[in-house]
Order: sequence, then C-alpha cells, then structure tokens
Amino acid sequence: MDERGLLFLLIGIIAVEFIVDFMVGFLNHRSANQNIPDELAGIYNEAQYEKSQRYEVANYRFGVITGTISFVVTIAVLYFGWFGDLDLWLRGYAPNELVLSLYFFAALYFISDILTIPFQLYGTFIIEEKFGFNKSSMKTFILDKVKGYFLSILIGGVMLTALILLIFSLGKDFWLWFWLVIGVFMVFMNMFYTSLIVPLFNKLTPLESGELRDKIEAYARKVSFPLTNIFVVDGSKRSSKANAYFSGLGNRKKIVLYDTLIENHTHDELVAVLAHEVGHYKKKHIIGGMVLGVVQTGIMLYLLSLMIFSSEVTWAMGGDTTAIHLNILAFGILFSPLSKVLGILMSIVSRKNEYEADAYATETFGADPLKSALKKLSTDHLSNLTPHPWHVFLNYSHPTLLQRIRAMNKLSSSSY
Ligand SMILES: [Zn+2]
Repeated sequence: MDERGLLFLLIGIIAVEFIVDFMVGFLNHRSANQNIPDELAGIYNEAQYEKSQRYEVANYRFGVITGTISFVVTIAVLYFGWFGDLDLWLRGYAPNELVLSLYFFAALYFISDILTIPFQLYGTFIIEEKFGFNKSSMKTFILDKVKGYFLSILIGGVMLTALILLIFSLGKDFWLWFWLVIGVFMVFMNMFYTSLIVPLFNKLTPLESGELRDKIEAYARKVSFPLTNIFVVDGSKRSSKANAYFSGLGNRKKIVLYDTLIENHTHDELVAVLAHEVGHYKKKHIIGGMVLGVVQTGIMLYLLSLMIFSSEVTWAMGGDTTAIHLNILAFGILFSPLSKVLGILMSIVSRKNEYEADAYATETFGADPLKSALKKLSTDHLSNLTPHPWHVFLNYSHPTLLQRIRAMNKLSSSSY
C-alpha cells in the first residue's frame, strides 16, 4: 500500500472507532432513563434517582464534547502531516536518533497533556464538584500533575530507551527481548505498586486493631488466606467514591481499603467485599490476568516488528526520513482495531471472573452482605442501573449490578 492509501487507512480506522463509540454511547445514554428493575427496586429514592439521571446526562454530554474535539484534532494532525513536522523540527535539536525519539514522545506527551488540562479541570472541579464527589483541592491537583510528569519521564524514559536501543541493535528481532523487558516490568509493578507508587500520591496506614480487623482476620483464617497486610488509603483526599483492591504476589500481598469505603459500609459488608477479592486470588484470576496481559503484549510487539522500519508508514505520518517513533505511533493506530477485539475478549474473561469471585464470597460469607455492599456502592456513585447491553459488551469489565444480583440470587436458591 502506498503512503496515501496508508494515510487514509489510519484516518478510516480512527473514524470508524469514533462512530462506533458515538453510536453505542448514544444508545447507552437513551437506555439510562428506564424503570428500575424489580430486583433493584428501592435502592434509589426518587431524589437520588433523579440526581443519578442528571449525573449521567452531564457525563454523557462531556464525553461527546471531549470525544469530538479529540477526533477532529487527531484527524487534522494526521491529514496535515504535523507529526512529520514535529519530527523535522526536533531533528534540529537532537544529537542522535535515540534522543530524537525521546524528544518526540516527550513533546507529544506534554502537548497532549497540556491541551487536555482544561477538560480535566472541568471534569473534576465542575462536574464531580456539582454532584458532591470532588474532594480534591487545586493544590492536590497541581501536585498530582507534577508527580505524574516526574513518574512518566522516569518510567517512560527508561522503557523507551530500552525499546529503541533494542531496535537499533537487534533489528526486527527486538520484539522478543523487549517482550521479556515488559514482562519483568509488569511483574515488578504488580509486586511493588503499593509500596513504591501509591505512597507518592496517598497516605497508607495499617488498619488499626479493633472489631473490623478482628472480623477480617477471622474470615481470612477460615478460608486459610495468608493475610499479613491490611492498609487503609486516604482516598477521601480526592473523591468520595470508594474502592478496595489487592496487590502484590506471594508474601508481599497487600489488601488496600479506601477510607471512604470503611466510612459508608458495615463491617459485614466490608468483609464481603474482601471475600470477593479473596475469591479472585483463590480462583487464580490475578495470575491469569497477568498471563493474558503478557501474551497480548507479545502479539503486539511481534506485529510492531513487521512495520518498524517501513518508510511508507513514515511518509504516511508526514515524515520524510524513516523514523521509528513515527512508525510506533502509526502502529498504535493500526493496531487499535485488533486491540479493541482483544480488549473485548479480556472483558468477557473479566466478567466471568467477577461472577466466580461473587460466588466464592457467597459460599464463604453469605450473599446478603455482598449484595448490600454492591447496591450501596452503585447508589453512592450514582451509577446508571440500566446500561445498554452493547455498551456492557464492549466496555464493561464487570457485569452490571442487576446481573450480579440475579446470579447471586440463583446461587442462594439452588443451595437449598
Ligand atoms: Zn472483582
């Protein structure tokens, strides 16, 4: 395919994705305004339900506006060859190809981040603020930005340098070695994320002894789950939305509960949420997810190796000297349809895993506390209770609340 054909292929991929997202988003928006299903009756009072509808509309409109702007800008940048212009301009400052590639990605990262700051501010300080979710101050927002830049430069810089040096020294065979680098990095991040990254942004404190800790430890003993570290994180610093997660492998496993979760839930509900997380661990979902992630990365790197030195791809991006950074960027677009398909497959696996973790929590701790915790989380977050099935199929990593409640009802009725 010549450069002209390639350029239109790139634009076509972006356009098709935009149209699909737009249509599914619209269907989902229309589906939000329905009667609440019987199983969920009474979880919103009238005022809360009306508020959840307004929250959905605000987020939908915001998403349409930001999505459209980003679409128009991307098409313009591609059509007018501005990626190539940026490459040409930076060549005047870079002493060699490695530094040129690093400059190029750093420039793109900062330009796109700075362009989206107004939208980030609007999302946090106007929409989330209006619905009572935002707890972040301007100072926290700015500090987060600075720390985020620092981390991106450090991690992005190291990974990119490794990638580019491998490409220069090994040619097309770089993919196998870089795959190994990424694999090691993924395992490392999984092990040390909570001890290295989270403390840069939040305060982690061990859960104090008392009734809640006793209950959690009693449950962990009952299911013989090796539990050593339970932490509370000050999520309330940024948002009133709640969460809980697990991280680490082997003996470094940590359970992290948001302070906002502890505040709004009974002890039984909290243990039920943990029981669900323990279910993911016992059913080997965490390891499974990592393996799938590593396999997907391998496929991606192999495909990248097929076009990394193509001069047609560079020309299609508006460059005139073959540049691997332009080709990596073009690959990102060309790969995105396949990445979407792989993402949908991953979501199918993920939703199946959620049912299994719910079933595990139901078997070991009963269905009622988990059901009430899930309902509370949905209403506290003003969630849309009736998302469109296509939207769920394409984008949801978790089944809907209704699907989860129905599955748990089935379990508890079949056990009698
Ligand atoms: Zn889960």
